Amino acid sequence: MRIDVFTIFPDLLAGPLDISLLGRARAEGRLEVRLHDPRDATTDRHRSVDDTPFGGGAGMVMRPEPIFETVEAVDPPRPLLLLSASGRRFDQAMAHELAALEGFSLLCGRYEGVDQRVADHLCDGEVSIGDYVLAGGESAALVIIEAVTRLVPGVMGNEESATEESFGVAGPGLLEYPQYTRPAEFRGYEVPEVLRSGDHARVARWRRAQALRRTLERRPDLLPDGPDAADRALLEAFPAPDGSGPA
Ligand code: SAH
Repeated sequence: MRIDVFTIFPDLLAGPLDISLLGRARAEGRLEVRLHDPRDATTDRHRSVDDTPFGGGAGMVMRPEPIFETVEAVDPPRPLLLLSASGRRFDQAMAHELAALEGFSLLCGRYEGVDQRVADHLCDGEVSIGDYVLAGGESAALVIIEAVTRLVPGVMGNEESATEESFGVAGPGLLEYPQYTRPAEFRGYEVPEVLRSGDHARVARWRRAQALRRTLERRPDLLPDGPDAADRALLEAFPAPDGSGPA
């Protein structure tokens, strides 16, 4: 997987790309990230990458020339996606789409954003990481790189964890069931007995019931049709400990 990122603040990404999952994926050659700074394509004394908006208004807009020049010189893997609060909302399904490619590229805006001609005539699409406004696309790029990279084969030690977790691809996207580790009792709080029973089939049923209950309580939008008959039976078989929540 090769990901090219265009940013006027490459240092914002360099550190995080060296650490933990991303650092390991790069060291093992499963991920290659190339950072490109459009400021390097400027020729004026101030190396300016922004200018005032036509039509007036607050703030500055990123100039098209250094961005076009940098992207064209690199000829990066496509699609080239512009980070933008107006873009398609990034989610786990889109992470899977991108993870299936050999590469893609991200363009980070700053200031009030990027000259519209960059979106219209250079990029292949726009992507947003959520309904809020960041100061720049770099943190959004990192979110996307991390979510996509952990789906690349071999990056996570245990391939199953990517299918079993929240928004998993197996079945309708549910939130993940609660996880516990040792000790079995901590400050009087006990790990549910079923998880210590060694009965794998019962554990699997309990986990699905928990995932269903959590999803119905916290994110009913993920289950617009509600639970089917089998899942309703599961919820009845494993009632919420305090009797609360949808049954
Ligand atoms: N004036 C713009 C916000 C500019 S914020 C607006 O009202 O939409 C500066 C840059 O941060 C943007 O160009 C974009 O690259 C990035 N950015 C801000 N919010 C984002 C979001 N939710 N998702 C992805 N990128 C975002």
